[in-house]
Amino acid sequence: MNFCPICSGNKQENYLLKDGFVFLQCLDCKFIFADASGINLSEYYNNANYLHDKVGKGYVDYEADKAPMAKIYAGLLNRIKSFCSGKRLLDLGTASGYFLDVANRNGYAAEGIEINSSAVKEGQERGRKIKHADILKSGYLDESFDVITAFDFFEHLPKDRLRDYFSAIRMMLA
Ligand SMILES: [Zn+2]
Repeated sequence: MNFCPICSGNKQENYLLKDGFVFLQCLDCKFIFADASGINLSEYYNNANYLHDKVGKGYVDYEADKAPMAKIYAGLLNRIKSFCSGKRLLDLGTASGYFLDVANRNGYAAEGIEINSSAVKEGQERGRKIKHADILKSGYLDESFDVITAFDFFEHLPKDRLRDYFSAIRMMLA
């Protein structure tokens, strides 16, 4: 049985079938979500074409796609600074780490973590500090970071492991 990630309702109907995924619509709150049960998400996200995709399953050109976000990211970092002065920053699901450059330019010591190995390699080639690992097996010591960011991230995690991910993230945060 599937539970709606928004309202936890357990009544859904099939909404759409696309690329082998069944999309369900919650009958209570109308939220539409992919049924990812039985799909190995790290396998799904760990494909070499994710940042240079030609068939509509990833980014066409990740760096170009993210460039217009630089100003928005800088604004967000300014807001974060008003809450926390620490400069050790970890970006979750950082892809090739475009955001890390923006954070570093704004005074942070930024690094990222990413499960897609080709994205990690591409970011490392651009001089960015990125660890290739799942957050649950990251090996970071407790309280390693002052700031942890996550853009377009949580909705990609397996629903039944969300609590584990939040615990791991909380431990890493000073
Ligand atoms: Zn719902």
